Amino acid sequence: MGMLSTHPRFYLLLVLGCLGLSAQPQYDILLKGGHLIDPKNGINAPRDLAIKDGKVAAVAASIPAAQARKTILIPGLYVTPGLIDLHAHVFAGTGGHMLAGGDSSIHPDSFAQSVGVTTVVDAGSSGRHNFAEFRRTVVDRARTRVLVLLNVGGKGMTGDSHEQDVDDMDAKAAAAVAMANRDVIVGFKVAHYNGPDWMPVERGVEAGEMAKLPVMIDFGAFHIARPFQELVLKKLRPGDIYTHAFYAPVPYFDAGGKLLPYLGEARKRGVLFDVGHGGAAFEFKQAARAVRQGFPPDTISTDVHSGSLNAGMKNQLNVMSKFLNMGLGLADVVYRSTWNAARAIHREELGHLSVGAVADIAVLRLEQGDYGFVDSWGAGMRGTKRLANELTLKDGYVIYDTNGRTRESWDKLGDYQPQGEPWWDQTRSSGPLRRGRAK
Ligand SMILES: [Zn+2]
Repeated sequence: MGMLSTHPRFYLLLVLGCLGLSAQPQYDILLKGGHLIDPKNGINAPRDLAIKDGKVAAVAASIPAAQARKTILIPGLYVTPGLIDLHAHVFAGTGGHMLAGGDSSIHPDSFAQSVGVTTVVDAGSSGRHNFAEFRRTVVDRARTRVLVLLNVGGKGMTGDSHEQDVDDMDAKAAAAVAMANRDVIVGFKVAHYNGPDWMPVERGVEAGEMAKLPVMIDFGAFHIARPFQELVLKKLRPGDIYTHAFYAPVPYFDAGGKLLPYLGEARKRGVLFDVGHGGAAFEFKQAARAVRQGFPPDTISTDVHSGSLNAGMKNQLNVMSKFLNMGLGLADVVYRSTWNAARAIHREELGHLSVGAVADIAVLRLEQGDYGFVDSWGAGMRGTKRLANELTLKDGYVIYDTNGRTRESWDKLGDYQPQGEPWWDQTRSSGPLRRGRAK
């Protein structure tokens, strides 16, 4: 009797054991059949990419589907590092003013993940007086990775006279807050200043010196007493960032329409030019002509807020698409939205798909057709190419799936229950990704 009852169990265990040995998938997720663009590693070719425990685990010409628990087929699509938006405003609605906790900032999860953006850099919405509130209410709670350029002005972007208050631009105090929050603060921001003096820029650079971090400059009202050329040739250090690169007041061309040589000198010094499109600061008459004459931006960013989101800017992919149609190549546009942005903020662990890197990934579609784009001053431009998001993954989880590419058809599922397992699918939850990898 004893032998008879143990026999079937024994064989079942034997069979399961053999399956376990021969077919245990070594990867969690496999993105199969796509074209990989990873500028840091010089890859622009068909590649499969496998993910394990939230990290990139393998990149190869072909990885068998049997080696992954979840295979997502992506023929005809592009796999890129998760996009980094170097200039955003995400200190959203906590009863403050304008971009500093008011109605102009937008919660990052409400726009970023749907367009392949996995990291946003908030550019100066908060200053040292309200950074803690920003951190508590948004930075530490968002699903999107939020890094911060701390405004050298104490209250950040309140949109009123506080932003002109030079007495509250305390470099030493700003540096102290940055050094106490090195995990999220990646630099400083100077912005919106209307006065004729250099004080805010100097305070920003001073804070940068003390904390050993870059400073990003929005030059505010252009003023004859503080020429732009002096900003980028003398005041800023190598690695500092001028944002709003294609804003109309920036002197770009001589009377004959030729690119002014000082721009090349500034770039040679190591000053970075960031797009920071926004609601006023991106004009095709600057950008299209500068790109044509060999002066592309170092980094492509949105300056997203509730105004620019609904005007010509729209989102990171739309700004990238503008540069595609102005003549930059796809890999180049990806480079300026991933690896070069990561380098600008000294976060070299981001913006690439090396084995071992965090699995922040965008899967994009390059569409061909007849499209239109609009600049910050309302001028149009026709184009034939447009980037669209297909999938967004962060920390190795699928967080956005535009076309249901990860999904089984409903009519094959019978009387189905909620779909997707928590170890790969976080599209049906919100807030921070659940840590730990339940299996
Ligand atoms: Zn801005």
